[in-house]
Amino acid sequence: MDKKKLKKIVDNPRHIPGIHNYCDRWCERCTKTLRCSVYAIEKADTSGPQSSDPENEAFWNRLHEIFAVTMEMVQDYAKENNIDLSIPPSLEEMKKKSKGIRRPTNIRLSRPDVLYEGGAQLV
Ligand code: SF4
Repeated sequence: MDKKKLKKIVDNPRHIPGIHNYCDRWCERCTKTLRCSVYAIEKADTSGPQSSDPENEAFWNRLHEIFAVTMEMVQDYAKENNIDLSIPPSLEEMKKKSKGIRRPTNIRLSRPDVLYEGGAQLV
């Protein structure tokens, strides 16, 4: 699928942005298929069932196509937002940018992460 077709599906106002991030991907049982861009993308994919088999070349061709389109979209975004992708930020720049960002420590699921990070810093 090319970038233009992908963008057309993603930009469809009928779709609920990010709805696919809150599901179990059991599309056959889902009541929101008409509101989901992932479902629409899967349905629009014409590469056939062989593209789901990692033993088949079609699988790798499809994956290559997905990465290529993704990279194209990342480059478009960077261009629109004046971001130079050729220069990776230094560690100091990244530390500066992340300063002030606090991790929630009162959420149960984040505790193992915080504990792990604390333990990793001790090593
Ligand atoms: S259609 Fe599939 S991917 Fe989309 S929300 Fe439903 S289960 Fe998730």
